Amino acid sequence: MTSIPRKVKQIIEPQHVIEGADVLLRRSFGPNIENLFDPFLLFDHFAFNNPIECPIVGFPTHPHRGIETVTYMLEGNVRHRDSLGNMGIIGPGDVQWMTSGRGIMHEEMPKRGSSGLIDGFQLWVNLPAAQKMSQPRYQEITADTIPTVKNEDVTVRVVAGEYAGTKGPVTEIAAQPLYMDVALQPGREFELTIPESHSTVAYLFEGTGLFGLSNGEQGVSIEAVHLAIFDDGDHVRVRAAEESRVRFMLMAGAPFKEPIVPYGPFVMNTREEIQRALADLRNGTFVQN
Ligand code: MN
Repeated sequence: MTSIPRKVKQIIEPQHVIEGADVLLRRSFGPNIENLFDPFLLFDHFAFNNPIECPIVGFPTHPHRGIETVTYMLEGNVRHRDSLGNMGIIGPGDVQWMTSGRGIMHEEMPKRGSSGLIDGFQLWVNLPAAQKMSQPRYQEITADTIPTVKNEDVTVRVVAGEYAGTKGPVTEIAAQPLYMDVALQPGREFELTIPESHSTVAYLFEGTGLFGLSNGEQGVSIEAVHLAIFDDGDHVRVRAAEESRVRFMLMAGAPFKEPIVPYGPFVMNTREEIQRALADLRNGTFVQN
């Protein structure tokens, strides 16, 4: 079996956008008909660390259909409440993996933690056509139940997928995702086998590192904050710069290779399905408990 290291094929600089009720975000990519990062649809970083951004309003009640939204908090909290009667707080280190299926209405309201900071990510993962109208489902994972692999080189929190024999608690997701929070000590290296067909992305939010190393090539030097898209291959290698710890979210997933039609908080396969979602909202038939 030949071994093919994944090289970096694109580096994205996150753009500031305003979403919800005046929430300032760093968006690396959003839903697009070209579906370039299939099965991933969106990656947002919310960090409200400037006092002038006070008060934080958040994301008042809004619908989703046809996708999964994944919230991962570093600092601060997100209070959420939905049409199924769920409510709770996503705190530092917690994950909420929400499968909207045919439809939920929810609100997501960020709150400052004791540090005064709010820092976290939201990833949107597509659903295949056959699951877009499925029953909504939540996987709420608290920080203390996310396994961490730690040695002198690296600390990896495994949300989904497997690292060094440790499996993440999020399971039964159509995209067969891998989602990890990786912190590398200065000059140290991280390597992971990833199925060849998976789309692979890293969001670097601390430090400087070499991404996409291969035998004889040192990879591309990238500094925070940037998103790196990897090319095809069967494994990923990253090395922290000599003087810098690096930390990044690593995500990979199996592409569905289906046409998509995004419209705000909905991502379906056809325009007719979007029109159906809007009609369901108008008619009060969007949410079916
Ligand atoms: Mn939402």
